[in-house]
Amino acid sequence: MLKKYPIALYVTWSVALILFPMPLILLLNTSMAHSAIDQLILIDAGIVAYSWWLFEVYLSTRSLWLDRLIGLPALYFVHSTLGLGALLVGFIHWYYLVSMGQLIVLTGRTAWFMVLGIALYSVLFMSGWLVDRFKIAAQLKNTLQHFFKHQLSLWIHRLNLVAIFLIWIHVHIIGRVNIYPLFMFTFDTYSFVIFGLYLWQKLVENKHVTVGEVIDIHSISPTVVQLNIQLERSKTNFQAGNFFFLSFKNVKGLSVEAHPFSISNAPIDQHTAIFTIRQLGDFTKKLDLVNKGDKVFLEGPFGRFASIIEASSSDSPLILIGMGTDIASLLSIAQKYHHSHTIKVIWTTKNESERYYHQDFEALVTGNFDYVVQNHRLNRAQVKEMLTVEELQTGQFFIVGPAFGVIGLKKMLSAAGVNKNNLIDERLTM
Ligand SMILES: Cc1cc2nc3c(=O)[nH]c(=O)nc-3n(C[C@H](O)[C@H](O)[C@H](O)COP(=O)(O)OP(=O)(O)OC[C@H]3O[C@@H](n4cnc5c(N)ncnc54)[C@H](O)[C@@H]3O)c2cc1C
Repeated sequence: MLKKYPIALYVTWSVALILFPMPLILLLNTSMAHSAIDQLILIDAGIVAYSWWLFEVYLSTRSLWLDRLIGLPALYFVHSTLGLGALLVGFIHWYYLVSMGQLIVLTGRTAWFMVLGIALYSVLFMSGWLVDRFKIAAQLKNTLQHFFKHQLSLWIHRLNLVAIFLIWIHVHIIGRVNIYPLFMFTFDTYSFVIFGLYLWQKLVENKHVTVGEVIDIHSISPTVVQLNIQLERSKTNFQAGNFFFLSFKNVKGLSVEAHPFSISNAPIDQHTAIFTIRQLGDFTKKLDLVNKGDKVFLEGPFGRFASIIEASSSDSPLILIGMGTDIASLLSIAQKYHHSHTIKVIWTTKNESERYYHQDFEALVTGNFDYVVQNHRLNRAQVKEMLTVEELQTGQFFIVGPAFGVIGLKKMLSAAGVNKNNLIDERLTM
């Protein structure tokens, strides 16, 4: 991931880790240098933890400009790593720093334990750190998910804001800190600006998401529906392989929460967006309640597949490997780039009834476009049989599918000699 976005990602990390907390640390250290020199490092640890949590809140707004620079998966990765880092640094602060004020201790400790609980919960339910790698964790999540649904998880995760508010109070009641007006002013400015941006994104910007109208929704296999949307305002400018967070706020019985789905059509006509959706859980199964004419809200577009393709040489073949429904984004890429690039598509499906895009891919087959579909996932032997040495060495691999499958295939391709920088995927579970 690093080599794909070296500068933007390094800059994001540097701002988050150092530049953002630095003004607060400098202000406090110069003010307290005489009164608490021996405790400054522990005090700074608290400032660093608070700053990282604030930065995390900003990242949770999924800003489009940052997605363009580093991509949403990298953004989520920075978000979650910062959160865990802040937990550790925050621990050093409250465990080793002695305070006499009961309320100061209570607010600080409560906030830290709250964040710890939320982090443990989120590692299982909201990240792929465990579930993408350990089957037992995935099974546990699946079992518990009947009650701990994604929407409930979002609300539990939002309790971090309450913890941050407690830390804000904690700082305001520390007598030896709140006497420095410049520090307090800067501290409050940080807090209010970040919360302001968060509320702006939730309450105002979200209202300005692109609005579309359902022009068709129908089944294309026993488990998959195709959703065609007419975009009312064509300010979206989506690219091949992008994804949007879709929500239906006016459909009775369907949750209002936004879910990510990839564009399946090439961006030839910016007024039509086609989505291919597997009906597997609470939200997707209830899409049967959606009718022609219903309004749909689209947040995005997100994703960097097209910008990576356009930034790299058109001599490198594109190897598009899709598992199941996730092939959708690759169809869009195939349709967009089949004239300009050599492309090989490998689609693995459960069975013949799930090959709803077979004819669309077949129609693209030429000397420069190769397409294979099969009923089971690729294995080690097939990786070597189906891909030429040149493809393994120079190809750009775009891999989409369930996290387990993607991680496994990336390992196989890497073992077969593919450079890790040429293995591109867009799992949002890091
Ligand atoms: C970048 C991206 C692109 C995707 N593109 C497609 C696509 O083109 N077609 C398709 O069928 N599916 C796609 N998905 C998966 C799709 O978002 C989930 O299947 C859907 O949100 C499941 O919702 P559910 O309530 O029906 O199922 P549930 O059983 O509630 O959830 C199944 C899994 O989806 C995840 N999930 C649930 N809700 C959300 C949410 N609001 N945001 C993020 N993750 C969530 C959870 O981790 C959960 O484990 C994509 C996912 C991502 C991250």
